Amino acid sequence: MKLANPKNPNTRGLMRERHRRDRAQTPPLRTRYPDVASLRLNFVFSDSGPFTPAPQVNEMHPPATAFFVFACPYDDCDGEFNLAGPVDAMVRAGRDRCEGQLRCGGQRSGNKGKYSCTLTLDFTAQALRAE
Ligand SMILES: [Zn+2]
Repeated sequence: MKLANPKNPNTRGLMRERHRRDRAQTPPLRTRYPDVASLRLNFVFSDSGPFTPAPQVNEMHPPATAFFVFACPYDDCDGEFNLAGPVDAMVRAGRDRCEGQLRCGGQRSGNKGKYSCTLTLDFTAQALRAE
């Protein structure tokens, strides 16, 4: 039997494993940010290639794990986007909204071997405060 063999089994798998471990140690949103009723993360991706990933919306509620590291949507990339800093700064400053841009620093593995991912994430984070 041939095992499932994703294009980039090692680094991508290691990242997923690390995320799973980190997530397990992260408190829920309601503990970390008690006055936040919901958090909405809007992702818009841009890249020079022909297959740019679709936009994403992540709606997080108080029971959700307050984990803000997202794997690059390219499944052959080992990169990630870490929004923990901007989200934390927004909530602590009492702001309801922040936006920014992050670049993937991962490596992709294509037919021609490894190459740097050029995906750019434009994100908007919106916090809805509890009454
Ligand atoms: Zn990437």
